[in-house]
Amino acid sequence: MRVTLIESPDVATIGVGEGTWPSMRDTLGRIGVSERDFISECSASFKQGSKFVGWRTGDDKEFYYHPFSLPQGYLKANLVPYWLSEHPNLSFASAFSSQEALCQLGKAPKQPGTPEFAAVANYAYHLDAGKFALFLQKHCTQKLGVQHVLDHVAGVNSAENGDIASLTTRGHGDIQADLFIDCTGVASLLLGRHFDVPFVSQKKVLFNDRAIAMQVPYARDNDPISSATLATARGAGWIWDIGLPTRRGIGYVYSSDHEADEQAEQALRRYVQADPRSSLAVDIEARRLKFNPGFRREFWHRNCVAVGMSAGFIEPLEASAIALVEMSAAMIRDELPANRKVMEIVAKRFNQRFCYRWERVIEFLKLHYVLTNRMDSKYWTDHCREESIPDRLSELLELWKYQPPSRHDLIQTDEIFPSASYQYVLYGMGFKTRPRPTSCHRDNFELAHRYFKENQIQVEKQIDGLTDNRTLIDYMIRGTG
Ligand SMILES: Cc1cc2nc3c(=O)[nH]c(=O)nc-3n(C[C@H](O)[C@H](O)[C@H](O)COP(=O)(O)OP(=O)(O)OC[C@H]3O[C@@H](n4cnc5c(N)ncnc54)[C@H](O)[C@@H]3O)c2cc1C
Repeated sequence: MRVTLIESPDVATIGVGEGTWPSMRDTLGRIGVSERDFISECSASFKQGSKFVGWRTGDDKEFYYHPFSLPQGYLKANLVPYWLSEHPNLSFASAFSSQEALCQLGKAPKQPGTPEFAAVANYAYHLDAGKFALFLQKHCTQKLGVQHVLDHVAGVNSAENGDIASLTTRGHGDIQADLFIDCTGVASLLLGRHFDVPFVSQKKVLFNDRAIAMQVPYARDNDPISSATLATARGAGWIWDIGLPTRRGIGYVYSSDHEADEQAEQALRRYVQADPRSSLAVDIEARRLKFNPGFRREFWHRNCVAVGMSAGFIEPLEASAIALVEMSAAMIRDELPANRKVMEIVAKRFNQRFCYRWERVIEFLKLHYVLTNRMDSKYWTDHCREESIPDRLSELLELWKYQPPSRHDLIQTDEIFPSASYQYVLYGMGFKTRPRPTSCHRDNFELAHRYFKENQIQVEKQIDGLTDNRTLIDYMIRGTG
């Protein structure tokens, strides 16, 4: 099998996208990358989850975490009734995960001696998107035999049966293939433009359609590196703040229906200036981006499958885009069609699976907004309007008044967001579940209490045994602490 990547010298990559999921460790390990090379060449750091600031009330002192680790004992006990009854003043995340405490202290997720890609506390990465693209390009061409053609695709040629037969490039003539993977970004050159597969807009559910991105130097070289993505709510969206070893990536994602670009840029600059870790010695350039939230009605059409932004894009609130790329690549790898007839079957399965995943991503992102108490701007009140909430989510919210989210709500084995993630967000936002008496029996409380205690012990041990992020990264790059 031969893999050829055609990449235009005239069209730049989107160049943002700095937050990933723990799945990235598996992806990098599988393709034979060394974690140490990756950390040093991509200016990568460790991410243990997301910290949501100001989402409930708008007060920047109020926050909750969505950590990557499952709650302690999650699959063995119903933790929520016990937590509500015995520890109502403690956050759900801190009662059953060590990662809230680790992130608050800027701790690393592993020790210097922990093997590559292995974890003490579950983790993903923050990375420099431009450097990561070059890193992958080098690895794939030098180690995995991928042919890289630097050329612009100027035309798409059809076969008699309607499949794509070849692509016409400016300098390399026509390039033929059996399967075409459309990774042309928002241009969606093959699936969108050539095949005209309709785009399903999600603007009525998730309003954000603009972003302003900045790269902010640290005030001091040894400033701490955050262990989580910070997502701070603002009047018409939210600001991401991602700590890399060399700089922070900061950006405001917002709705153009609710805030003008100039105002949004001012809000972002105020955020940067208010933080003592920001170096204000340099003029910081702001990059403005527009996007249309939504996805294609199908992703695999005939002999073409779209991966990445060509398939769709929704605001990066839970950094799901690169994870979807990894999942798409994995399914193409696992189910690569043996012949053209089988391709129809694989395409149908791919479309069903990814349509399901996109719908779950949209519902889960919307969950972050619908429970707010913020009434300070139309953006937040619009998010709570019944007609903007997907029916399935409304139904689940009604159910969750009496029982916590569970695996019965999300029944696939490889759900994109497990029910534990729903619990972290729901209870982080202060949602009230009134558990039925049957879930409050003594056996369950005793079990939950044991896991609560185990978590407390784990917190102490990990705080003691783990260094801060920057120390671990320096060690991995230079072999020194
Ligand atoms: C503001 C913002 C923040 C984001 N944050 C995150 C995040 O934290 N986490 C996350 O997972 N994702 C995030 N994303 C999404 C993430 O950036 C993308 O999913 C990821 O970069 C992959 O993009 P892509 O490869 O699909 O598209 P692109 O990077 O746009 O690449 C498209 C490629 O197609 C090529 N091309 C286009 N036209 C032609 C042509 N005619 N001929 C040949 N080649 C062509 C281009 O040269 C380019 O190489 C974010 C996106 C935005 C907009």
